[in-house]
Amino acid sequence: MNIILLGPPGAGKGTQASRLVEDRGMVQLSTGDMLRAAVKAQTPVGLKAKAVMEAGELVSDEIVSGIIGEALDGLPAETGVIFDGYPRTEAQAHSLDAILADRGRSLDHVIELEVDEDALVERITGRFTCASCGEGYHDTFKTPKIADTCDRCGAHEFKRRPDDNEETVRTRMAEYRAKTAPILPIYEARGIVSRVDGMADMGEVTKAIAAILDGGKG
Ligand code: ADP
Ligand code: ADP
Ligand code: ZN
Repeated sequence: MNIILLGPPGAGKGTQASRLVEDRGMVQLSTGDMLRAAVKAQTPVGLKAKAVMEAGELVSDEIVSGIIGEALDGLPAETGVIFDGYPRTEAQAHSLDAILADRGRSLDHVIELEVDEDALVERITGRFTCASCGEGYHDTFKTPKIADTCDRCGAHEFKRRPDDNEETVRTRMAEYRAKTAPILPIYEARGIVSRVDGMADMGEVTKAIAAILDGGKG
């Protein structure tokens, strides 16, 4: 099973993808995570991407489709994949078709998380993650059960993304509206799009996604 989680910044894609990894043994391919790793390691891709990401703009289609192809090549054919934050443009959607076809894979579901734009700013500016295991948290909506201690791994260090500020989020939302939302009709024509209310509690969103994955196509 190969699925795309689609939605604006802060919609809950990463949160839901990590639950699918835990519950179903799928693999999460997040271009945002891969790009941040490249920036940290100062690879050629990272050096090119850094300023673009800090501005909230989109990294080039060639770069992100390249890293997605490479990541897929490292996976056994039977492993299910969750595409998180990719594709984000029409060109990327077409590249993904080719990348999947080359590897004998196909798309089963595109799940769109629908969220109010006003809620997104609050979600993004309150977001932080465990510096050790990457578990996601929120200042209001998901605080660690024991203060300053990761629920999952017990570490005490947390981090915030440099692009998770209000100004950059506005740019990212505009990019989503202009370039990413327009790819939905490609998948609608194939009858594989499902919509989930991303404003519901995290657990409710997880249940709605499970119902889609267990209920057949579309
Ligand atoms: P969010 O989870 O907030 O939606 P991501 O972590 O997916 O954000 O992406 C962070 C940044 O990385 C984006 O603003 C963009 O600069 C870059 N990026 C990630 N995925 C892509 C992609 N598929 N195409 C172009 N740029 C991307
Ligand atoms: P995305 O990957 O789409 O950018 P995240 O999964 O990182 O979004 O979620 C953004 C922030 O909102 C995180 O701090 C997360 O804990 C929180 N969050 C995710 N889903 C929900 C939800 N259903 N209700 C409230 N907060 C949420
Ligand atoms: Zn942790």
